[in-house]
Amino acid sequence: MKSKVKVAINGFGTIGKRVAIAVNKQDDMIVSGIVKKKPDYNALFAKKNGMNIYTITEKDADEFRKKGIEVNGLIDDLLKESDIIVDATPDGVGETYKELYNKYGINSIFQGGEEAKVADISFNALCNYDEAYGKKSIRVVSCNTTGLLRSICALSSLSKIEKVNAVLIRRGADPQEIKKGPINSIVLNPVGLPSHHALDVKTVIPWINISTAAVVVPTTLMHVHHVTIKFASRIEKNDILEAFMTSPRIILVDSVISGIQSTSQIIDSARLNKERGDINELVVFKDSITVDNNEVQFFQAVHQESIVVPENIDAIRASLELSGKLESISETDKKLNINKNLY
Ligand code: NAD
Repeated sequence: MKSKVKVAINGFGTIGKRVAIAVNKQDDMIVSGIVKKKPDYNALFAKKNGMNIYTITEKDADEFRKKGIEVNGLIDDLLKESDIIVDATPDGVGETYKELYNKYGINSIFQGGEEAKVADISFNALCNYDEAYGKKSIRVVSCNTTGLLRSICALSSLSKIEKVNAVLIRRGADPQEIKKGPINSIVLNPVGLPSHHALDVKTVIPWINISTAAVVVPTTLMHVHHVTIKFASRIEKNDILEAFMTSPRIILVDSVISGIQSTSQIIDSARLNKERGDINELVVFKDSITVDNNEVQFFQAVHQESIVVPENIDAIRASLELSGKLESISETDKKLNINKNLY
């Protein structure tokens, strides 16, 4: 049997801890250790689940030891014994580690909070897995961009796409972020148009003609997008439905059958049916899909805490040339129980 590749994780917050859990579910990879800054409940979870903890400085390590949490070494020790690093540090911080990763010649996966230039390629498994194959450094795009790319790439084989317009209603903060807002406002994000999401989509599929606008609202559960796609030729609703039903990592929610017409009901249903209530799939509201000649519009919802997790697993496989696109997507989905069902 082939030995598992060793995956280091730097940053064990919203994304890092979910990627670590997902890595340890795969047959071909294992977490070699995580880098933590603070000895908090996340560190205790990592220890309880057998993950080795590394710190950035000796001073940090002392803080862990004071709380009775064993530390296995410093980040350099972890990099020396790993095959690849998943950087899930806060926006812009990943870039500051690039030199260190390069020093140890280790492959790296960055997240969407970094600028595209941090890596050799920006990535979405469905859209450009093959182009990322063997790349030393890959950036998994943000949750909103991943959501947009999933639906665009699922529909792109139906007919040439002339234009995509999307309005993004973004969650204000993740559930544990107790100091972020807005608490009572709708914030233009940013004031100027288009929002950066359109440019970010283009980092993966440069051929797309897309415009986006975004606002931030006081909710922590999910983002919602209203997407309009104009095709070069007439399109049938059944073709749209079929494309969404057969594309990986997209759930079609039937509001008539389930009664679901909100992000809170999606999360409530996920708490019943999915591990931790995480939804790795993009959720498209089936009854919102409306076709007018060559134009389709629909609502979709993105669980920001977990949608990029399967892409991180595929990015590891692509970077280390472990398996081809369809094999990786199917293996990731099987191990993460991604089954296109919400209820
Ligand atoms: P987070 O704040 O939840 O977690 C970041 C972790 O990094 C924390 O554990 C923090 O203690 C640690 N950290 C802080 N400074 C550090 C440093 N200098 N060195 C090492 N570790 C440090 O952040 P997150 O939400 O998980 O975001 C991580 C990345 O993923 C960002 O690029 C973000 O844009 C991207 N992303 C976030 C979401 C989301 O909705 N949360 C979705 C998709 C992508």
